[in-house]
Amino acid sequence: MSLNPALRDVSYCPRCAAPATVQAPRSLSCATCGYQAYYNPKPVAAAIPRTPDGAILLLRRGARHDPGFGLWTFPGGFVDLGESVEEAAVREAREELCIEITLDGLLGVYSKPEDRVVLIVYTATTQGTPQLTAEASEIRAFDPAEVPWDELAFWSTAQALRELVARDDGRL
Ligand SMILES: [Zn+2]
Repeated sequence: MSLNPALRDVSYCPRCAAPATVQAPRSLSCATCGYQAYYNPKPVAAAIPRTPDGAILLLRRGARHDPGFGLWTFPGGFVDLGESVEEAAVREAREELCIEITLDGLLGVYSKPEDRVVLIVYTATTQGTPQLTAEASEIRAFDPAEVPWDELAFWSTAQALRELVARDDGRL
């Protein structure tokens, strides 16, 4: 996957249509009109919702064309312009699991140079009963000792959950 699909096959200025200087994956600039665009990793907000007894709510990714289809993760998604990272984390839990969550604090920030996204993960609690959605084909409340480590969607999913469980155990 390209680091920046927005620049794929692009060679003209989007404002004045003159030939542009493209430095993939990072930037596009136009000497004719001065237009400049810089591309950066996109923030993805996520939360790990826990039930009152400490179980971890995970969903099986149900959108067939999305990466990690069929694997387990916690709710999360791109931060939209016009909302905070925290608001995005709460919104994604509402959209993917139909629950209201309360954020308890930052768990961690996860990124690699070869990734297009920066994942920001909060710990959260919920009193709600989740419901299946187009994005969640299965939902389970896992005991921290029973997280499905071999069926997680992304490296960052695994690292965040490892850190959460280590915190529980007083190891972090
Ligand atoms: Zn231009």
